[in-house]
Order: sequence, then structure tokens, then C-alpha cells
Amino acid sequence: MDPVDLKSTDHDFTEVVAKKIGLEKIRPCYTCGSCTGVCPVREVVDDFDPRRLIHMVMLGMKKDVLSSDLIWFCCLCNSCLSVCPQGIGFSRIAKELQKMAVEEGYVDHEFLKGLEHVKGYLQDLCRSTMFKKVRNGFRGPHKMPCWQKAAKDK
Ligand code: SF4
Ligand code: SF4
Repeated sequence: MDPVDLKSTDHDFTEVVAKKIGLEKIRPCYTCGSCTGVCPVREVVDDFDPRRLIHMVMLGMKKDVLSSDLIWFCCLCNSCLSVCPQGIGFSRIAKELQKMAVEEGYVDHEFLKGLEHVKGYLQDLCRSTMFKKVRNGFRGPHKMPCWQKAAKDK
């Protein structure tokens, strides 16, 4: 991860995002990485990391977050919510970040047009991952953090 320049951070950003979501839905994150461990998009987009994006929001890295292509890749499958010990759903955060990025002029509309082509692929990927999980005995909320998944996969 690149070093963070704290001088360029926006301390209100976290609060603004938290208010938009309606609850303090970000602060309890303790960066355990369970969300990243189960995220199907992460499997195909190396840089996509919900834990990292949440951490960047917590640090107030508004410009980096809102101008990042990565906030558009969440396919809203909620796999991360099902394993987060703190009940945090990145899909809800992603939707707000996307809205803010549009409202505040951070988005390249050509990029958004291009994204239309990959949306279907991401949706299929997320759907098939969820089906696989159900088939393999979905364990319900908060039962399969990433370190358990890694141990199981060995
Ligand atoms: S699973 Fe929850 S607590 Fe863990 S890093 Fe992700 S958002 Fe934070
Ligand atoms: S909602 Fe799905 S795609 Fe988005 S961060 Fe969570 S697990 Fe990844």
C-alpha cells in the first residue's frame, strides 16, 4: 500500500459517509480481512479490497477513494456482510461512495460506459460464488472469517 499523506486527508469524510449510511456502520471495522477473504470480485480484480477501501474511508482519504475505479467493481452480493464479525456490509458503503463520486464530479463518464460491459460478468461471478457457498453448506453470518477459509482451502 502506498504511504498515506495525512495532510491531504479530509477528516469529515468518514462522518459524511457514516451519516449517509444512516448509522455508524464503518467505525467498528477492525480490519480483520474476512470481507476481503470471501469477496468474489477480489478473486478476479487483484486491487479490489473492501477492507482497504473501508480503511481509506476511515483515514479520510476522500479524493483517493472517490476517484478510484475500484469503488465501481463491488457487485453488491453481500458475501462480505455474511462473514463480517462487526456486521458491516461493504455493498451499502460502495453505493454511497458511487453516488458521492458522481455528485462531486470525480467520475469519468467514459469509464462508467465501459463498465457496463463488465457488469454482467461481475454479477455472474458473484451469483455463482453464492450458489457454490450454498451448495457447500452456507454457514450463516459471522462463521467463516478469511483465516478459517484459508485453513479449509489448504
Ligand atoms: S470483515 Fe468487517 S471487521 Fe473485518 S475487515 Fe471487513 S468490514 Fe472490517
Ligand atoms: S458486496 Fe460482494 S463484491 Fe462487494 S465487497 Fe462485499 S463481497 Fe465483495
